[in-house]
Amino acid sequence: MIATKNSSSTNTSTMNIKPIFEKKDRPYVIAGPCSAESEQQVLEIARQLKEDGRVDLFRAGIWKPRTRPNSFEGVGSIGLKWLKKVKEQVGLPVTTEVANRQHVFEAIKHGVDVVWLGARTTVNPFSVQEVADALEGIDIPVMIKNPINPDLALWIGAIERIYKAGISRIAVIHRGFSSAGNSQYRNEPMWQIPIELMRRFPNLEIICDNSHICGRRDILDNVAQRSMDLNFAGLMTETHIDPDNAWSDAKQQITPKTFSSLLDNLVYRNVTTDDELFLENLDGLRQQIDLIDNDLLLQLGKRMKLAEAIGSYKKKNNIAILQPSRWNEILEKAVQKGSDHGLSETFINVFLKAIHEESINHQEAIMKEE
Ligand code: PEP
Ligand code: MN
Repeated sequence: MIATKNSSSTNTSTMNIKPIFEKKDRPYVIAGPCSAESEQQVLEIARQLKEDGRVDLFRAGIWKPRTRPNSFEGVGSIGLKWLKKVKEQVGLPVTTEVANRQHVFEAIKHGVDVVWLGARTTVNPFSVQEVADALEGIDIPVMIKNPINPDLALWIGAIERIYKAGISRIAVIHRGFSSAGNSQYRNEPMWQIPIELMRRFPNLEIICDNSHICGRRDILDNVAQRSMDLNFAGLMTETHIDPDNAWSDAKQQITPKTFSSLLDNLVYRNVTTDDELFLENLDGLRQQIDLIDNDLLLQLGKRMKLAEAIGSYKKKNNIAILQPSRWNEILEKAVQKGSDHGLSETFINVFLKAIHEESINHQEAIMKEE
């Protein structure tokens, strides 16, 4: 069920963003095919999803922004008639992606309940502004996917543009970020980015698009669970009656039946509780964490002082800051030691690289001194 415009909000940021969905004691669920392919395909998927009973919103792409020009680019406006039938005949509210003025007009004309901005739109402020202008004066909820690249400011910029157009019911969709390296994901989740967004906009609902993060079926449940453990408000998952033969994103789509079991296995936890004993015990553990964090910072400060001493020694002897073999040695040793303490290689890499960078900055400051 879609919330009405006047749903209450306790947003503490300057923007008074309201929820898109009515509050539930379970995640909001958005499901449907990557692309609408035929009336029969759309209606059959919708019927099966409706049977599950937990689906709040039916998704289907009508206009598909594809990376390569010869891919299927969506059925176009005719698909909106099929979405209308989903509303009228199946009884599910519907959502689709809009990327320009024309899309907005057509979607509104056909009674689409919620529209979303795709990753390739959010990345471009001109496109976001065009969509925002077209939405001006229309009371419709809007979901905003993250931009393709890990740029939080661009994501926030899109939220602001849509908000300034008078749209108050806004949610965001985390669909992962493009990256060059080898990865098990199609789009790296980089969870710290949505976590930071959550910190800045505590009442903004974040939906996890596990399909576009994973790009494959076997890890959809893991990513969905992670998002629940990070207090995401809901899930958007691509579902298809014949996933292997889907016209787009075949590898990541699952059947409505598989999706139902994914939902069955999902553990949806409370954000907090009033249980005093629990809060007390948690507080005790947190105090220990705080002590260790303080100690870590103290040690890091000491480490930087040593780096400065090394910097001034190198300066006197006209030696460069970076010593590649030494750095390599530090990293290799730390990865080994870290694994003895149950720390992953990825973490050690990120952590030590950040320390190293800071250390270089301290040495550089010393070198620059008159
Ligand atoms: C989609 O949801 O089908 C889609 C095109 O996603 P994204 O914009 O995240 O690539
Ligand atoms: Mn898709």
